[in-house]
Amino acid sequence: MNFTRRALGATAMAAVLMTPAFAQKNGTIGISMPTKSSARWIADGENMVQQFEEAGYATDLQYAEDDIPNQLAQIENMLTKGVDALVIAAIDGTTLTNVLANAAAMDVPVVAYDRLIRDSGDVSYYATFDNFQVGVQQANTLVQGLEERFPDAETWNVELFGGSPDDNNAYFFYDGAMSVLQPMIDDGRVTVVSGQSGMDTVGTLRWDGSVAQARMDNLLSANYTDETVHGVLSPYDGLSIGIISSLRGVGYGSGDMPMPIVSGQDAEIPSVKAIMRGDQYSTIFKDTRELAGVTVGMVDALLQGGEPQINDTETYDNGVMVVPSYLLEPVPVTEENINSVLIESGYYDASDIE
Ligand code: BGC
Repeated sequence: MNFTRRALGATAMAAVLMTPAFAQKNGTIGISMPTKSSARWIADGENMVQQFEEAGYATDLQYAEDDIPNQLAQIENMLTKGVDALVIAAIDGTTLTNVLANAAAMDVPVVAYDRLIRDSGDVSYYATFDNFQVGVQQANTLVQGLEERFPDAETWNVELFGGSPDDNNAYFFYDGAMSVLQPMIDDGRVTVVSGQSGMDTVGTLRWDGSVAQARMDNLLSANYTDETVHGVLSPYDGLSIGIISSLRGVGYGSGDMPMPIVSGQDAEIPSVKAIMRGDQYSTIFKDTRELAGVTVGMVDALLQGGEPQINDTETYDNGVMVVPSYLLEPVPVTEENINSVLIESGYYDASDIE
């Protein structure tokens, strides 16, 4: 070591010593993600780590496995370790008020990632997709599928599923979908045979596919012994999988019982395959590379004194403030455009979905 020190010129030595620290010259970013049980959040985490590193930041990426106290502890721990900014996709958007007050006291800015953080004045920015539009696209593809598969039905029998009631996005998805479906229910083109609607009734806590499957089982046995289901509004691929197994369980998708039209979200690989098999009809693609890009840009601007890019200052009132937001465009996917949207964009390899 001594020899090396002497042998190297001062500048070269400084460069060598600086190398590991140099990669982190801009600081460390705490990234708190909800769960690894869904592939999309794994992709979100990986994309952010890569893009933050490219921008000269170190990262501390943690997953909370859908456990609220776990997420709070992980964020507290990031603050204790001295992160320079936080990026958080909340499990329950209403539980972070105290921990964010601690972040604010330490001058650590917070970007809400994909899901709005509610009941806190300490959220700097929000990076997400146009969540109302996601719901509109879910319902539009549902109706498109109903027209294709059941052109002669007198009315389309449809059941409604919502996302997790503690996730602000779930209401936007549901409201967006109902902006399309409610007029069709009102004029009789669509019938909700169970009569169940409204997020209080159709929400699915923690986006749990087995909860959706159990509810679909009950809907089928209570309402569809003499009726046929034509469609199911599902807000997320993980729920669609449970709903489809319930439908298959009573014979849909075989013999003279065509599979109902089932929507989804996130373009997760098992669901893309289900679309190719004709089990699921549609999903919504949200490019997590782009969301990571917007988020890294926001954090970088916050820490380097620039202006974060935003395109919405009205929609996301979190109960304390309207959080300045950047909304990306979601893309509906059916069998027709899997290739152009998911493969040609490089999001998946063709071999991933074979
Ligand atoms: C996200 C969706 C996702 C859902 C379940 C929502 O907050 O916006 O993309 O399907 O959570 O993980």
